[in-house]
Amino acid sequence: MSRIRGIETKIKVQKDVFQIQQGFKNGYANAIRKKSDDDSFDKDDAEKHQIDELLHKLPALDQIFEVHRKIGEGTFSSVYLGSLRRHSTLPAADRRWFAIKHLVPTAHPARIEHELRCLQDIGGKHNVIGVDLCLRHLDTIVFIMPYIPHRKFSEYVGEMDWEELRRYMRALLEALRHVHSFGIIHRDVKPSNFLYDRDNKRYLLVDFGLAQRVCVSPDEPAAPRPASDPAQDSAPTLAHSNKRTRDQLEDDSSPGAKRVALDLTVESKRVNVSTDLSKKLTGPSKVQLPKAVALKREAATCACACAGVGGVCAGGGCATRAVARAPRAGTQGFRPPEVLLKWPRQSAAVDLWAAGVVLATVLLNRYPLFRAADDVSALAEVTELLGTAAVQRAAHHLGRRVVTSVRRPGMCLRKLSAHLRGAAPPRPPSAPPRPPSAPPRPPCARCRRPAARCLCPDENVSASSFEAGKWVAGFPDSAFALAAHLLEPAPAQRPSAAAALSHAFLADPAPHTT
Ligand code: ADP
Ligand code: MG
Ligand code: ZN
Repeated sequence: MSRIRGIETKIKVQKDVFQIQQGFKNGYANAIRKKSDDDSFDKDDAEKHQIDELLHKLPALDQIFEVHRKIGEGTFSSVYLGSLRRHSTLPAADRRWFAIKHLVPTAHPARIEHELRCLQDIGGKHNVIGVDLCLRHLDTIVFIMPYIPHRKFSEYVGEMDWEELRRYMRALLEALRHVHSFGIIHRDVKPSNFLYDRDNKRYLLVDFGLAQRVCVSPDEPAAPRPASDPAQDSAPTLAHSNKRTRDQLEDDSSPGAKRVALDLTVESKRVNVSTDLSKKLTGPSKVQLPKAVALKREAATCACACAGVGGVCAGGGCATRAVARAPRAGTQGFRPPEVLLKWPRQSAAVDLWAAGVVLATVLLNRYPLFRAADDVSALAEVTELLGTAAVQRAAHHLGRRVVTSVRRPGMCLRKLSAHLRGAAPPRPPSAPPRPPSAPPRPPCARCRRPAARCLCPDENVSASSFEAGKWVAGFPDSAFALAAHLLEPAPAQRPSAAAALSHAFLADPAPHTT
């Protein structure tokens, strides 16, 4: 019944908007002059109708709250700014403000309950959003949460200096440490889910709509843990317990096509992704991304003649291979290699990778950092940054095989940051600062570019080691080391949130001087 009423209301909105547009058509000149006013008027009007509709469907909300305007919209919710009716005569500064999250009525009840439980059990401290109230009538459900003013990440990412970045990352990792201590993986860590009130230095991790409980999956044996494993306290693995519709939508492929994404090599979808990143950083001699990336199970399990070839055949081996199933909820650009490779035993390390993407985004001042539309292209982007060897090694630990037609050396985050930010290239590890009168360095033997334009990673030095007192593009060397550590392609080598918080970039009280 309520749905039918909802549809009627929507039709009415469209009709009203149509009438308004007709009105504008009558005065053409007027309409041209007021084009932008017209757009915002339509938007405001539609928004007002949405609010009216919500209040109509949920009278209890109307009784307690004034709903002012829409402040956010995700795939599966609309979020509104609200205040208590009994505060309506108070000045704005004295009122309590709330974010009212209205979940789409098609969301699965179990998923809604899970999100609410996360908010109730985990939220309210350590920079994690809590919930004050949940109201429901039939299929209309809202969560009432504390409101935090914030701006879009894209508006301040370029303004963040190292101290602000340090506070921001500390707050994010504290939130993740707290969430993970409950055996919960957030799965959708990204700037639009980590709200930042810059003026008051307040932070909130929101949106537990994709959160999953960690538990052991019997499907697949655990990956061998590399010998030097710093993540002693990393979380146990995760079973596919809470599949959200968004997962399917963001996958933009049917279950059948999903199998293509895993089992097919990219014969049919050649990866020729010219990322923004590669365009900007390489100038005239553009870096070519791998032309083909093939994701395959271990050759041992693939008896087909096409094993290791960039394509898929119609032969028995390919056709009979089992479809790999693994959680892949999350947002493209923030998914780690184990998700892209459909490894079922995912852990809290998924969130640490996303935190690494956020850190690298600020260091490189490129948002979004990764922008591929599908998993294979996303893996190609990761390979471009981290190098083919590192990604293949990680895949091997996960029982997967990545085949590329072109081997990428990877890129040095420090050099890339200096290049993108127009700063002086970093001096090689442990080399003394060069005096301005020093002769130019010889070109790089690997990429043959002049030393100042070489982006090759430093050989023999781990990207996650750092030198105290060294600065690159206005950031301490330790910030790049932490980013490299969080962006470890093998999940078992990624630090836990607790370990990351004790990293020198975040832990030292005042370790850095320029
Ligand atoms: P979805 O699950 O649809 O992505 P979110 O919970 O992420 O919903 O909320 C969508 C947007 O609404 C956020 O990106 C943010 O801009 C805004 N928002 C959510 N919660 C709050 C809050 N507590 N305070 C202020 N804005 C919020
Ligand atoms: Mg969200
Ligand atoms: Zn080079």
